[in-house]
Amino acid sequence: MQTRITGHGQELDLQHVEMRAVSKRYGEFTAITNLNLGIGKGEFCALLGPSGCGKSTILRMIAGLEPVNAGSVFINGVNVTKLHPAKRRIAMVFQSYALYPHLTVRQNIAFSLSVAGAPREVQAKRADEIAALLQLGHLMDRKPAQLSGGQRQRVAIGRALVREPEVFLFDEPLSNLDAMLRVQMRIELAKLHKTLGATMIYVTHDQVEAMTLADRIVVLDRGVVAQVGAPLELYAKPDNKFVASFIGSPTMNFLAVTPRSVAGRDITLAFDAAGQPASGSLTVRARSVPGGASPTPAEIGIRPEHIAITDPGKAGAHLTGHVQLVERLGNLTIVYVSTPAGQLVVEGGGELAVRTGEPIGLMLDPARTHMFDKNGSVV
Ligand code: ATP
Repeated sequence: MQTRITGHGQELDLQHVEMRAVSKRYGEFTAITNLNLGIGKGEFCALLGPSGCGKSTILRMIAGLEPVNAGSVFINGVNVTKLHPAKRRIAMVFQSYALYPHLTVRQNIAFSLSVAGAPREVQAKRADEIAALLQLGHLMDRKPAQLSGGQRQRVAIGRALVREPEVFLFDEPLSNLDAMLRVQMRIELAKLHKTLGATMIYVTHDQVEAMTLADRIVVLDRGVVAQVGAPLELYAKPDNKFVASFIGSPTMNFLAVTPRSVAGRDITLAFDAAGQPASGSLTVRARSVPGGASPTPAEIGIRPEHIAITDPGKAGAHLTGHVQLVERLGNLTIVYVSTPAGQLVVEGGGELAVRTGEPIGLMLDPARTHMFDKNGSVV
């Protein structure tokens, strides 16, 4: 969904939130380089990446808490780059709940209305509506110290909701909660997004959180966008090794390879190191290369669930190896295999019949095998 506006003789197609050529420096250090990012109205967009990649900086620039060094930020078609945070119609929820300890849940939720001078009845009515949405109705007269972590975080979300913002910004809001509560709050956030249909931008380093909540994920690598896409698109078709290795657990396996022959987009590969292909070779289809540059894969990547275990002598096995360790998780089995080409992690069903120390064959699914060049870009 886009807003078409005309400004200074220039016509721009703008998304609900848009960053155009935004850069951010802290002294000599460049935290964000030339970021172009558009987020549609009603979209749940996750900013995902390792610690220090610039996620919070982006969120804070959208909020106006951090000035940009170059570029512009637009919210709902308005250039807000120089606008005070209070005027941007955004609400932010942080990892630390930052509730007022001396105020009740009701007063915390209604705080911004009370500051704005809304009549008491309006404050109470709105706080009650929000409390119902967040299942806080029975806790309205408690103080924050009398609440659990999850309840406090819900109050913090309620306090953001009451302001009816254009955009919700979440900065790792579930990080302080224990594993079970995180899952529960994740479901609640997803429901809330569905109910409100609001634009939400959500910072996390937890790929599961991003995968389960977001319509679209922006993966960041040292201040630069590594890839933007729907969760399963990133999982199935990573554009580079960074995204391939950051998304998915257990992580994707990588093995060094040398191309032996090329027929159109089909590249036949041999495994490097001491490893000879166990039998035959592996032929993988390259993604179409714009401009027709000749692809030179240096590595393959394959997810643990896309490798099948067979008998060691079986025709069609690409590698042979030995089982180093078997982890049985009930619903699935994780197998660590040493091969002449390197160690591989293989995932199978809960009943997978393998034993530590035994020799096995491995078949790699060529259709699910990714190739990367020496710079880590997909081939
Ligand atoms: P985390 O997940 O650890 O919160 P992040 O991806 O949110 O990380 P940012 O907080 O955006 O990362 O920081 C990006 C980079 O900018 C980091 O290398 C950080 O050290 C640096 N940085 C952030 N704030 C400042 C500051 N005020 N002064 C100097 N450097 C800063």
